[in-house]
Amino acid sequence: MEIQENVILKPFSTFKIGGAAQYFSKIKSTEDLVEALRFAQEKDLPVGIIGAGCNLIITDEGIPGLVIKMENQGIAFDSQVVRAEAGLSFAAFTARAHQQGLTGVEWMPSVPSSIGGGIRGNAGAFGGETKDLLKAVQVYRNDRIEEIDVTDLEFQYRYSTFKAKDNTDVILGGVFELQEGSVDDARGEVREFIQKKQANQPTGVACSGCIFQNYEGQILDENLIAEFPELAMFNEKSLIPTGYLIERAGLKGTKVGGVQVSDKHANYIINPGNDARYQDVLDMIAKIKATVKDRFGVDIKEEAVYLHQQMKNR
Ligand SMILES: Cc1cc2nc3c(=O)[nH]c(=O)nc-3n(C[C@H](O)[C@H](O)[C@H](O)COP(=O)(O)OP(=O)(O)OC[C@H]3O[C@@H](n4cnc5c(N)ncnc54)[C@H](O)[C@@H]3O)c2cc1C
Repeated sequence: MEIQENVILKPFSTFKIGGAAQYFSKIKSTEDLVEALRFAQEKDLPVGIIGAGCNLIITDEGIPGLVIKMENQGIAFDSQVVRAEAGLSFAAFTARAHQQGLTGVEWMPSVPSSIGGGIRGNAGAFGGETKDLLKAVQVYRNDRIEEIDVTDLEFQYRYSTFKAKDNTDVILGGVFELQEGSVDDARGEVREFIQKKQANQPTGVACSGCIFQNYEGQILDENLIAEFPELAMFNEKSLIPTGYLIERAGLKGTKVGGVQVSDKHANYIINPGNDARYQDVLDMIAKIKATVKDRFGVDIKEEAVYLHQQMKNR
């Protein structure tokens, strides 16, 4: 395990924005993690965690403390029970499961994620969610390894207790129970989901997933419902896709500095030249929030995570 100083974080985020971490370490095992955390504790440094870096906003002003990149990627099978380490990608997890004749997680490769990041935010797509086949989560908490039953983690739409402000757990891995099934069919489904995803979201361009959470609530203004009839349907579920609001507020394609609202899906801010600044992202987010508020009267909140706000003594 190596701890480096002054490491630029831009390559570790799919947004391709980010300055230097004071200290940085790639960990390949629980032992590495424990060693890295000890280093931080001795120096009284806050610690931040990067999984696959697909939902992060990283300041380019530099981050004091230790940033740990999770690269523990082990996977072990015991009949239908699968233990996967936090740094393993969703795509590799699904591919390994299929090699073992196990299915049920075909949506996963359509979402770029590590197991740890996916558990934290209960990532999902096409009706599947990380929590669905998850039985327990192994964490490093208060200097000990603990296994927490999934029922104690309050999973909801894109939420688990790992997102709570005072939570300092490092997710070491997940225990899943998969199903036996036709692997040929499952692989076909994976391809189908990936194709659908590629048709509806930006591909081959730097971005950080959906920047905003979908709006949990209703828009009851009759004039707005008359102008945007889909709102009535969204109101029934009290969940309004924020991409819809941003698009209907006329922001698709809008540019601020080096970033742009994607033409394909308005809840994605893209960094087409890989040269955008953190301030461009902040300015764009402020512009989108103000325009959506002005047009629809609702406040939208970020889904993507500001890494510097996640730095905690662990
Ligand atoms: C093109 C694109 C498409 C996407 N589509 C979807 C989609 O369809 N559905 C969806 O749900 N999401 C989607 N996302 C968002 C992203 O894929 C998910 O949020 C993903 O689960 C983030 O996981 P990560 O490993 O990249 O986490 P990161 O972005 O690295 O980190 C996110 C947060 O998790 C924390 N974290 C990561 N690993 C650990 C750990 N081991 N222990 C403790 N904390 C940890 C980090 O500190 C940070 O707070 C998309 C993103 C992109 C770029």
